[in-house]
Amino acid sequence: MNEVNLPKLLVIDDSELIHRLLRSRLQNERIQLHSASSSREGLLMARDLKPDVILLDIDMPDLDGFEVIARLKADPDTQDIAVIFVSAANEAGNMVRGLDLGAVDFIAKPFEIVELKARLRSALRVQHLVRMLAQKAQIDGLSGLWNRSYFDQRLNAEFAESVRYNKPLTLILADIDGFKATNDQFGHLFGDIVIERFANILSSGRVSDIACRYGGEEFAIILPQTTLSEALEVTERYRAQFAAVTWPQHSGLSITASFGVCDTESSEAPPTPKSLITSADNAMYVAKQNGRNRVERYMSKVQST
Ligand code: GH3
Ligand code: MG
Ligand code: MG
Repeated sequence: MNEVNLPKLLVIDDSELIHRLLRSRLQNERIQLHSASSSREGLLMARDLKPDVILLDIDMPDLDGFEVIARLKADPDTQDIAVIFVSAANEAGNMVRGLDLGAVDFIAKPFEIVELKARLRSALRVQHLVRMLAQKAQIDGLSGLWNRSYFDQRLNAEFAESVRYNKPLTLILADIDGFKATNDQFGHLFGDIVIERFANILSSGRVSDIACRYGGEEFAIILPQTTLSEALEVTERYRAQFAAVTWPQHSGLSITASFGVCDTESSEAPPTPKSLITSADNAMYVAKQNGRNRVERYMSKVQST
């Protein structure tokens, strides 16, 4: 297994002895071991490394372990890390307080290394399941694409990234044409098949593209580091591909979609994630007005007059 794929364990403890002990006793385990000798250093490393598990000492001079876990749980970037408390004071009170603050487990110093390993394995298992569930909650069941709440989050993040590195960012909105009539005529189950097929086409682009189900029969694709002209080419391909799909259930039937495309350059100035959506939606509206089964790019009122 590649070193970078190994689970990461961060040990936050002010005792150098503990770090040395763990380094020697865990050296044959398939984990990446990182050490922080103060709470503040540990908090910084937690944000940076995003470890799977933190082994956290309660008694530390700068901030105690309770304060550290409270901060970890308050930060969205670190709140999912599994924390195992380690305390010299084998007090029931400490254990209860630690678990109540969100720790997954507790171990008393001095500990047997076999016990520590067993608790680590168990924390890693829990961690794996938590991550899987968190991802699952962001995926739309019917289309298999990212859902709306993930889209909102991700658009904000990609937008910030594009501003920070001065890179282009493009957004595509797509809406199936006359879908109500398709449902009425052929049934809702067939409608669902159409959504699945369209989703398939929309997720066939670059791996960095983020295809989402925006709602009902509307879809959104975020294209990081992609210019408007590149995006228009991709969108035209999606449009043609979808219109060309043959439906074995209903021979001769053609279903189409309309697309609106906008990038950070051509959106209203100064662009925001919201203005990108509004502008792409505007373009899609124009595509519908112009007869559907079309791709339109956003033109601001200033440009189009
Ligand atoms: P337009 O060309 O203007 O987009 O017309 P339209 O009929 O596609 O638009 P409208 O918004 O009137 O209808 C959308 C339809 O999509 C209505 C709704 O029942 C259907 N729909 C939304 N989600 C689903 C779904 O998950 N499955 C199915 N089968 N239909 C859905
Ligand atoms: Mg619609
Ligand atoms: Mg529609």
